[in-house]
Amino acid sequence: MDREKAMKAVKMLLEAIGEDTEREGLKETPRRVADAFAEFTGGENMSAKDILSTTFDVEGGDIVIEKDISFSSTCEHHLMPFFGRVAIAYIPDKKVVGLSKLARCVEVFAKRLQLQERLTEQIASAIMEYLAPKGVMVWCEAEHTCMTCRGVKKAGSKTVTYKVKGDFPKEKILEVLALIK
Ligand SMILES: [Zn+2]
Repeated sequence: MDREKAMKAVKMLLEAIGEDTEREGLKETPRRVADAFAEFTGGENMSAKDILSTTFDVEGGDIVIEKDISFSSTCEHHLMPFFGRVAIAYIPDKKVVGLSKLARCVEVFAKRLQLQERLTEQIASAIMEYLAPKGVMVWCEAEHTCMTCRGVKKAGSKTVTYKVKGDFPKEKILEVLALIK
């Protein structure tokens, strides 16, 4: 990230809305916002492949569910946060991954300018590609501050997306949905 450029841009935005960028509270704001955006987009420097490449062999293939993985991401349309939780369910095909790795995989795709639909899809695709399970289901529920703090201002409204890939039987989908709510 070009930190200097980001700071300059924030300063210009403050000026554009008529602020005095030299006043006490705003002096350090360009730096703080630039640092925040470096963090919000840090997933671009992480690799889902690296995270998911250490696997363990297992017998059988019982479904694995990791739920309530909290995340925050940044809406690419408004540069405002959206946040919530993700559940990942997969049916292993001899390989499983450490549970903390699933949460880190969510971070990789959340820490970038995103859409919830794409976030859900990218997590599912990465797990399918690097873990090669029989099937995967990723479920995501989030509150979008661009919905709740501006525009229609529907406080508390949530958006739910989910993506199923591979061989994931319908009855398993219903089972997972019942367990993760
Ligand atoms: Zn938005």
